[in-house]
Amino acid sequence: MMDRIATEKQTARVTSPLQCWECRTALADEQENGIHFCSQCGKVQPLATKTDYFSFFGLTRKLGVDAAQLEKQFHQLSWKLHPDKFNNAGAYERDLSLERTAALNDAYRTLRDPAARTEYLLRLEEVRKEGKVKQQAPPDLLEEVFELNEHLEELRAAKRSGSDPRALDEQRHQLEKARGTFQHKLDQVLAELTNQFAAWDALLDTRPGDAAAKRTVLARMNEVLNRHSYIRNLVTNVSDELEQ
Ligand SMILES: [Zn+2]
Repeated sequence: MMDRIATEKQTARVTSPLQCWECRTALADEQENGIHFCSQCGKVQPLATKTDYFSFFGLTRKLGVDAAQLEKQFHQLSWKLHPDKFNNAGAYERDLSLERTAALNDAYRTLRDPAARTEYLLRLEEVRKEGKVKQQAPPDLLEEVFELNEHLEELRAAKRSGSDPRALDEQRHQLEKARGTFQHKLDQVLAELTNQFAAWDALLDTRPGDAAAKRTVLARMNEVLNRHSYIRNLVTNVSDELEQ
């Protein structure tokens, strides 16, 4: 049995993903484009090396993703790849189904969220490198960030010194108000990001070979995304403090 699995695996590594590892049927191109099963025998296929989260779902790198359609595809694939369906399958195909399920979950989590989707594209297009992005307050927000941090510090101090409940409530109220302001800014910056999506998608339609124009849009998107993650972290920190 072990030998058979090893052989299967070896053959699969050589032929995949252009041919089905089981029946040798030719399977479209190596970019994957949403090919999860052999069209002939129905076996789960290994992930192609060039697969990215977009091609996994058969999508181009456009950012205007249809959320309802994506969710539907996700549920359908989860169902088709469910471990119960592979109880009688060979160990190799079971492994493939698990590998593909993991990729499915990662791809869905990333693509359904506009900010995560943008960050992923920026990494694919090599505008962003791996690792953490430095968090820097956008210059136009410095004053408000300073004020927010003051409210945050006051609430912490009030908690530490065991202030009376009414004083504590007042501090909370101030902080909630400040959080509201930043929540509003977060909505604005998300709207701005969505505008950039339209610009990017139009470029892919009309001038897919225009590298300079692409770089310009991506650079702008990178700035907006940095602003977004800075504000989102602020809001999260404040919410954490308010909930304690
Ligand atoms: Zn096949």
